[in-house]
This record gives sequence, C-alpha cells and structure tokens, in this order.
Amino acid sequence: MAVSEEQKNKIRDIVLTHAHLDHIAGLPLFIDDLFATLTEPIRIHGIEEVVQSLEKHIFNWEIYPRFSELSNSNGAVMEYKIFDPSEKFHISDLTFQPIRVNHKVPSVGFIVSDENSTIAISSDTSKMELFWDEVNSIKSLQAILIECAFPDELDELANASHHLTPRLLQTEIEKCSNKLCPVYVINIKPMYREKVLAQLENLEIKNLNILEVGKIYHF
Ligand SMILES: [Zn+2]
Repeated sequence: MAVSEEQKNKIRDIVLTHAHLDHIAGLPLFIDDLFATLTEPIRIHGIEEVVQSLEKHIFNWEIYPRFSELSNSNGAVMEYKIFDPSEKFHISDLTFQPIRVNHKVPSVGFIVSDENSTIAISSDTSKMELFWDEVNSIKSLQAILIECAFPDELDELANASHHLTPRLLQTEIEKCSNKLCPVYVINIKPMYREKVLAQLENLEIKNLNILEVGKIYHF
C-alpha cells in the first residue's frame, strides 16, 4: 500500500478487488502498526470469497493474528464488510458499483462515483465484456483505470494468469464507446515496466496515460 503517514492516520476503509498477494500484502502490517491507536476498526470491504481467503490464508493465527477477533482499549480493530458483487454499496460520500471481471480468482472492478465525478477501475483482469457494458452506459465518465501487467511477448503467461498486455489492452479500449475519456494504466508488473511503457507508447493512443503510484489524482 503506497500511503503516507498522514493517509495512514485517515484511512479506515479498505476496498479489495481480489485476494492476490500483491493486492493485500500491505494489509497485515498496516493494521498491526495502527493496532494500539485505533479508535474505530479498519473496515475491509470485499466479496465473500476474498474475505474467506484472508481468514483462511492470512489472518489465521499462523501467518498473522486473526485481527477480526481482537480489540484494543477502544474496541474492535478490524471488521469485514462483505458486499454483494451485483449490488452497489456506499462508503462515506462514495458509491461503489462492483463488476465481476475476468481474473484467475474471484475478482471485481468498480464504477466509483461521488456527486461530481465517476471513474471506472478494472483491477487485474483479462478480456472483459460486462465491464465495458457498464462503462458504456455511463453518460459522464472522468477516468478509466485499467491494468496492463505483462509485455506483448509474454502473452502466453498473460493469458494463463488472466492479465492484459499492451496489445490486449488496445483491443479492450476499442470496446469503450467514449473515445475521449482519459485511460490510466495500472498494475504493471515492476520487472516489465520499461518494456510495457515502450509498447504502450507505440500504440499511439492519445487518451492513454500511466498512473503514478503515490500521486494524488483529482477526477
Ligand atoms: Zn491478481
């Protein structure tokens, strides 16, 4: 999790797309660091399968303590908020519309909106249809965040692990009817970053950007 000290003291809701380690690795130590000082629980929002994976494989008293059973002097330190993958839910002034995406494990992307803006996030995924149906039904969309994990030459690995390459990403973007909406690439595997960036640039897609981790975006 790329968060500053200030953000660490503010973040109390964490929304998970799926249970892969690169998406949850920061969670145990994030909660551990805050354990004594929390005045409200950290709320982990996820689909049923994701919560089950966390309880079975991470917070199982072997890899890490089962925080959902622990309290500090102020009360519970962590609680699960299971959401239905086909129903909207709200956190503060944000509305989350989950959309099942096409990954190796049960995963969702989201349409996230407040009263001013709406963005779409794919999370890890391979080819999608439902996601684009939802995106294309939105009148005003400020950004689309979509993954591109591997370079083109690793398309076999990308297919096997249900990820995208620049070439596959191009095919996905063609399914979007809004050709002006900025698209931000996320979740590039660090060791292939340079290759993926070069291949993305070669696609010459005008509205394509690379999302910088740690930078704050206002949509
Ligand atoms: Zn994944």
